[in-house]
Amino acid sequence: MIVVLSKTVSAHDKEMVRIYLKDRGFTIREQVFGAEEIIGALGKGVVDTRELGLLPGVERVAATSKPYELASRETQSEDTIITVGGASVSPVKIGGSRITVIAGPCAVESREQIRETAERVRESGAVILRGGAYKPRTSPYAFQGLGLKGLEFLKEAGEALNMPIVTEVVSPELVESMKDLTDMFQIGARNMQNFELLKKVGSVGRPVLLKRGAANTIEEWLMAAEYLLASGARDVALCERGIRTFETYTRNTLDISAIPVVKGLSHLPVLVDPSHAVGIRAKVSPAALAAIAAGADGLTVEVHPRPDAALSDGPQSLYPEQFEKLMRDIEALAPVVGKELLRTPLRNHPAFAISSIQDIREKTEKIAFCGESGAFAEQALVRVFGEDAPRLQVPSFQAVFDAVLDGSADAGVTPVENSLAGSVHENYDLFLRYPDIAIVGEVKLRITHCLIADERADIDNIAIVRSHPQGFAQCQDFLAKHPQWRLETFNNTAEAAASIAREGAFKVGAIAGAAAAKAFGLKVLKEGIETNPLNYTRFVALARKVGDKAPILPSLGSGAPNKASLVFSVSDEPGALFSCLQILSGRGINLSKLESRPIQGQPWQYLFYVDVSLPKDPGVFDAVVEELKAKARDFRFLGTYRAAG
Ligand code: PEP
Ligand code: MN
Repeated sequence: MIVVLSKTVSAHDKEMVRIYLKDRGFTIREQVFGAEEIIGALGKGVVDTRELGLLPGVERVAATSKPYELASRETQSEDTIITVGGASVSPVKIGGSRITVIAGPCAVESREQIRETAERVRESGAVILRGGAYKPRTSPYAFQGLGLKGLEFLKEAGEALNMPIVTEVVSPELVESMKDLTDMFQIGARNMQNFELLKKVGSVGRPVLLKRGAANTIEEWLMAAEYLLASGARDVALCERGIRTFETYTRNTLDISAIPVVKGLSHLPVLVDPSHAVGIRAKVSPAALAAIAAGADGLTVEVHPRPDAALSDGPQSLYPEQFEKLMRDIEALAPVVGKELLRTPLRNHPAFAISSIQDIREKTEKIAFCGESGAFAEQALVRVFGEDAPRLQVPSFQAVFDAVLDGSADAGVTPVENSLAGSVHENYDLFLRYPDIAIVGEVKLRITHCLIADERADIDNIAIVRSHPQGFAQCQDFLAKHPQWRLETFNNTAEAAASIAREGAFKVGAIAGAAAAKAFGLKVLKEGIETNPLNYTRFVALARKVGDKAPILPSLGSGAPNKASLVFSVSDEPGALFSCLQILSGRGINLSKLESRPIQGQPWQYLFYVDVSLPKDPGVFDAVVEELKAKARDFRFLGTYRAAG
């Protein structure tokens, strides 16, 4: 049931409504939906809805339109982000702007097999390890799993590689003995409607991966999730794994359309298991990519070091090399759907030993960005540091550097390059002026522009459009169709949106991201108005150096940094630049960017910005740096970090 509060409700009246509902046995969840403030009343309380409707401050009372309440978007509009692990391994999140990949064999077969698989999938970027210890097999004569012994092997491998584990539980009696050995329970397709199992698993409060039954509707699946939530679980991820259809070529039929449908109906994260859906190794990766394109929050994929010898589901298990290729493809696809492939730190990796700021993300007080709420820089910040990262809004790029230098922020996020408009030179110049600040990570954000305006606005009545000059430049074709609009320039796109909200102007539009519309309660009149949809901006995370070393940002890398940024100038003589680049090529180091910039105050002198791939052996790079320092002029090392996909 939903109680919509009136716009003028007082704090006292709101509290009275809360007390009224709680006294009658409801738990409550408060929400703001657009302009409406809502109290969701959940559970089996008893109430006279007419009496409730007459309470001061109540505008109307409505039953939820769905039989599931806790799982419904009607009771919670924001995506739920769940956390798996956290005790003996780093926590891994599922949901929001990240893509979380779970991988491992169908079944744990031996200590060596699960350890080897874990190492291989971890190397490729999987962050949660899967493996069945209790296997629900179609045939009673097939391998049934190693039971608790298998679970111990799985846990051991997970801890060694800093990966939370997920494993299937097949009966309520096993829940107690398994609960301290696993980070997440999987409810398999065959058990999706085993309600006693759902109630028992829900009651222990561990995260749950709930597979869709092979012959179950979306509503039945969400009702199963409701059982878990109503019994006490909070961290529930839904998992589409294919349904039974008349098609026999594939093992099941992957219901791709279920992904956007369920994401609309529920706030819970949605994962996809392409392995059981398709059942044919060669078809698993295309199905996995389709799932990500359709909006899945992640995948669970079966991988086996020797699929031909697997004791279960070998024909659908990927070879580790195939999984590695799939992960690279996902990394490339992620920014297209506005997401980032989640990476977590490999504990004990030597890369983390050099930093006293081992996990900036955990210890950070504030992260600085330039602009208003909803700015693209804020989206980049969320991608790097998470939704709950505390933020510091500052008015200029330089203020981001100042805040990080003087300690009012522990880190910052700032744009350095757009795929259409080129480098943001102001930020490159700032790196030169702030030698104590280093690049510690990068993120690539797809920039989708929208025309946004007040709720009452209509595209035909717009007279003025506000944005940053880049916003106008990137939407030229769209603007050309409306030559009568007057363009007004703002410092950034989100500020243009903010000005409309502040003034309540309804003949004014802004070109900005959808997040800015949301932040200021504005409406999107048209989405995707940029001339070229392949429009990406590369943002970097920056932090203060520790000694002369750049701190490492583990949240951005599953291993050692693989990219470095350098700046240098050269003397005015033939072959000067060539001899510097030769130092790199001589050591087999690949250049990913080379750009020249005029040196301020020195007409006709140039600086070279260079991005390189780091060699595996850190000693090689150290030697290159020493040689470059000797050969180049004004050599400056900007940092090493994990490259964005
Ligand atoms: C599994 O994940 O190994 C499994 C048995 O999956 P499902 O329940 O989807 O068949
Ligand atoms: Mn399987």
